[in-house]
Amino acid sequence: MFREVAAYSGVDEKLPTKGQGIVIPSLTSNPGASTLVILDGGNGLTVQSTLPARVHVYEFKTKQERADATRNATNPSDATRRLDAGSWRIFSVKGSAPVGLDTVKVEAKRNANNVEATLKVIVLEKKTVKVAIRLVQVRDGQKLVSLGNAADPDKLLKEMNAIWNPQANIYFELGRTDPVTIDGISPQSEWLEMQKLPDGFLKERDEHSALTFFLVRRVRDGGTPDDGSTIAKDRISLIANSRSDSTMAHEAGHFLGSLNEKGNYSSNYGHPEKSQELLMHAQHTGNKIPYSAVPNFNYGYRGSS
Ligand SMILES: [Zn+2]
Repeated sequence: MFREVAAYSGVDEKLPTKGQGIVIPSLTSNPGASTLVILDGGNGLTVQSTLPARVHVYEFKTKQERADATRNATNPSDATRRLDAGSWRIFSVKGSAPVGLDTVKVEAKRNANNVEATLKVIVLEKKTVKVAIRLVQVRDGQKLVSLGNAADPDKLLKEMNAIWNPQANIYFELGRTDPVTIDGISPQSEWLEMQKLPDGFLKERDEHSALTFFLVRRVRDGGTPDDGSTIAKDRISLIANSRSDSTMAHEAGHFLGSLNEKGNYSSNYGHPEKSQELLMHAQHTGNKIPYSAVPNFNYGYRGSS
């Protein structure tokens, strides 16, 4: 079978339809980019793309190439040992132009009639999404008091990109990051209720960003406490101090999934995933974006067949 080199690096080892899947950044939008994949137990097999003109497969055979390729592996010394022993092989897969879901495959074959492992391929244009990250403060007499904990917007952006770049070729960029004062909230108020937000949140959205994140103390949605909550239609997301390093990536998923091909709001995107390992599970503890869900988030995605 095909395996990921590192966790969440663009290879989905468990497709519901059998086999594996890989997300490849298109060379037209990501010059030089490729996605790495391991073939486990593929000694002696021929590994080929079903459409070599669009999707190229290159095997790393030299020690140097392998060392470079496994530097970020989950366990680099174990990977090197398996590669040297021949029980693993490692490949770089590149895509010259976008191709749609399930149009092209990489196959590991014993002979023409005997395909032993199948890697489905999607080649995607890079998609950039500008997001604002604004710390919320409220008035306490003459003073301003922060509702959320101060945080480094660059670090928060990196956490989101670590999940979204390799698995969906979506790149978040920073819009406004200055703190924002919202009126109509008491400095003592612990909770913000998503269904009764003061107008200030709408007014203080960054008009140049697709989505504005507001950092606040605590969030409830219809009474239920949460680490984050998003109103996709209004392009706002509230993030609580209790956030984890995947909370904002998860909330961004609600937003991206709600958009149509033109980038406008179409319908809410909830928690379709059943496995806790997945980013869009209701408990948002997972980081995995499954191969089959990638087109849901890539509005404007055009794959030619
Ligand atoms: Zn959610």
